[in-house]
Amino acid sequence: MATIFSQIIDGDIPARIVYEDETTVAFLDANPLSPGHTLVIPKEEYERLNDVPDDIASDLYATIHELVPVVEDSVDADASTVAFNNGEAAGQEVPHVHCHIVPRFEGDGGGPIHAVAGDAPDLADRELDDIAAEIESRV
Ligand code: AMP
Repeated sequence: MATIFSQIIDGDIPARIVYEDETTVAFLDANPLSPGHTLVIPKEEYERLNDVPDDIASDLYATIHELVPVVEDSVDADASTVAFNNGEAAGQEVPHVHCHIVPRFEGDGGGPIHAVAGDAPDLADRELDDIAAEIESRV
């Protein structure tokens, strides 16, 4: 079953498409968190960021890079929050990688990205060292 975003690409579901190239598409979110809330996706279905092949990841980033200032300017935003919900536990509902560009405005009452993960853990230096070493060893 094609994801709802693939159905948009195929023209089976209407959407306000604002950009399209060979490998990526961007369209307005149907439930905008702010005016101009835009989703940027690869045309091919990949569920999570780490499933996206390198060349498509480059294309995706290039589209995000181009669209962020365009979206901000189009709605006179002061800034934007640019984020992926990467996996169900992080709030991803549509299993087709998508980047949210959420225009932000002075005094809009929203929070920073620091607010997304619940209670911040109190990690000791030793634990931070272990985590850093674990990540570094896997790259
Ligand atoms: P996420 O929780 O990161 O998976 O976000 C999915 C996003 O897709 C939500 O912000 C929805 O409002 C949006 N969405 C769902 N269906 C559509 C649709 N048909 N057209 C545009 N945006 C949609």
